[in-house]
Amino acid sequence: MLTVNNFRYHEHVPSPALPPAPGTDDHASLALVDTVVVLPGGHRVDDLGDPGAATGWLIERGLVSDDVMLLEHCQGKLTSLRQDLRTLFDRFVEGEDPDPSALDRINAAITTVPAAPLLHHVPGRGLQRVQQHPVTKLVEYAMAHIAEDAAELVTGPLAGSIARCEALPCDRLMIRTHARRRWCSVRCGDRVRAARSYSRGRQSEDAEAERT
Ligand SMILES: [Zn+2]
Repeated sequence: MLTVNNFRYHEHVPSPALPPAPGTDDHASLALVDTVVVLPGGHRVDDLGDPGAATGWLIERGLVSDDVMLLEHCQGKLTSLRQDLRTLFDRFVEGEDPDPSALDRINAAITTVPAAPLLHHVPGRGLQRVQQHPVTKLVEYAMAHIAEDAAELVTGPLAGSIARCEALPCDRLMIRTHARRRWCSVRCGDRVRAARSYSRGRQSEDAEAERT
């Protein structure tokens, strides 16, 4: 359930924690999972930490119009989908079978409302594709779109390029831009190389080769 407000939403500022991981601009499912990041030292940053932040994220992605505000219940649905997608992708990149319950809930998100525009006949204007957005179903439409994106991703040509950042505690998802890419960002790669250099007492020889 959502409320429609008369004001336009401008308050949400995305977390400055890390730049977007590659592939997240094009894939809402990866972007959703990456809205939680654990920074060095264990500090957890959640871009969907409250209904306002979750609303702002959906608006930024163009998944809801900018005159709505999610209620806590809707924020909870979105973060539940995020957890299910995390489970799906984690097992996928490990080559493991999916968790059946997570898969069921992702499929429920795909089928609860149609993500595709429906075919309507408008008298005098003929057949038209119409995207319907009943106020009560806005978050369901957004979730359908995101879940559909995940389904396409794990079965499509980019499936083999889905990866998790290896610079723990960061575990953000990304699309590998080249086969040897292991970090979601230059910052993560630099952090791992600095730690490695420190522990070995010398500069890593392959640092340049691995630089993202
Ligand atoms: Zn990372």
